[in-house]
Amino acid sequence: MGRMREPYLGDPAETIAVLNKYGFAIQKKYGQNFLIDRHVLDKIIRAADISGEDFVIEIGPGIGTMTQYLAVRARQVCAVEIDRELIPILEDTLAGYDNIDIINEDILKVDIGRLVDRYGQGRPAKIVANLPYYITTPIIMGLFENHAPINSMTMMVQKEVAQRMQAGPGTKDYGALSLAVQYYAEPYLAANVPPNCFLPRPKVGSAVVRLTCHNKKPVAVEDEAQMFRLIRASFNQRRKTLTNGLKNAAGLSFSKEQIEQTLTVCGFPASVRGEALTLADFARLSDAFTALLQS
Ligand code: SAM
Repeated sequence: MGRMREPYLGDPAETIAVLNKYGFAIQKKYGQNFLIDRHVLDKIIRAADISGEDFVIEIGPGIGTMTQYLAVRARQVCAVEIDRELIPILEDTLAGYDNIDIINEDILKVDIGRLVDRYGQGRPAKIVANLPYYITTPIIMGLFENHAPINSMTMMVQKEVAQRMQAGPGTKDYGALSLAVQYYAEPYLAANVPPNCFLPRPKVGSAVVRLTCHNKKPVAVEDEAQMFRLIRASFNQRRKTLTNGLKNAAGLSFSKEQIEQTLTVCGFPASVRGEALTLADFARLSDAFTALLQS
């Protein structure tokens, strides 16, 4: 079967040959750093834990390097690429596989739910990507907040972003991203990846993380959107106390007295800072504000 063809991309010489064949000019604006290391590709594929039943959505296939590895293992792959110039290249490099659909779109505008309805055979999708770093957070948050039917995301991200995803209260990396990721998923660091594994080399270190979506959220909260407004407001002004951070914050209209009263009800001192609060604390705080609004 065509789909069983072994991947041939994944080293510098093959990548350069493909780029030269098409006279392709690498687009910085799209965060194009192509993977040229088979060990890293193997690590990503292993971390993604793909079986022959799986439907995989790849974000940003580039010239199709990782797509080849995904197609060998998955039942079906959809590769969503924004850069029109890469489409003829992908049609060439992926011609030997019969289980790949190439979609020329901006991932931020793709309705993942519809893709999963079409290809998922009733099961959630697995996302795998060497992400364009300029839109890492909007991509991840978009998938979570839209409740996209996905099982996991295995992604190359900037090393600092991987650290923020895993950080706990009281550390310098802890913030809104840590809380959002940990509310929706279990983060796992699969590998650190140096710049020389890419062409061109990025200026920053990278890491492969897998976010396995929770079947059941780790905390219960009445108004999820409000909890995240509180979280964002708390970390927007990191050096301020929570009381000052929450006053005048976008989307929140509590008076200083209401904030102080709610903090007291929850047992937090008036001088508490957001970075000291756990996810469970934010859920409790949000529920206390909800109760106040209803009283
Ligand atoms: N997967 C390839 C690899 O590992 O060699 C390429 C990874 S490169 C870091 C990121 C890819 O995402 C590029 O191909 C880029 O054109 C694409 N991309 C950038 N922004 C995108 C968007 N909004 N939607 C879909 N693809 C995008």
